[in-house]
Amino acid sequence: MPENHKHTCGSIIFKCIDFRLQNETKRWLAETNLTGDCDVVSIAGASKGLSDDEPAVVKLLLEQIEISHNLHGAKKVILIHHSDCGKYKGAYDFADDAEEKLTQITDMDKSEEIIKKHFPDMAVEKVWAQMKDPDGKNVEFQIIG
Ligand SMILES: [Zn+2]
Repeated sequence: MPENHKHTCGSIIFKCIDFRLQNETKRWLAETNLTGDCDVVSIAGASKGLSDDEPAVVKLLLEQIEISHNLHGAKKVILIHHSDCGKYKGAYDFADDAEEKLTQITDMDKSEEIIKKHFPDMAVEKVWAQMKDPDGKNVEFQIIG
């Protein structure tokens, strides 16, 4: 194993900064054995800026993946988007929750394409976090692909 891979982890996660998701995300990471085995990046809207082609966010996200991949040997990128996201609600006027979810999943698909173009040997996993209450006491995580 090369010297720069002395400290390895399996994946890098992009999640929203939203504080309401913190406790439940921590629980989900533990349940899926990701705690202590992933680099974690928190950014408003998770991968929204990547799919929107915002240059500063594209640069930031791809840099983080490159570091995680090259320094920690991460093999997978996990995108976690969530319902009632302020970054999305500020950019769109959704008719209902289903429309918000569909928009975000479409964006995650776009982000996946961009990530795979730059890092063809990495897997991408997309996760939808459905808030069951406004405070984030109960969040349902669903791996959607
Ligand atoms: Zn959010």
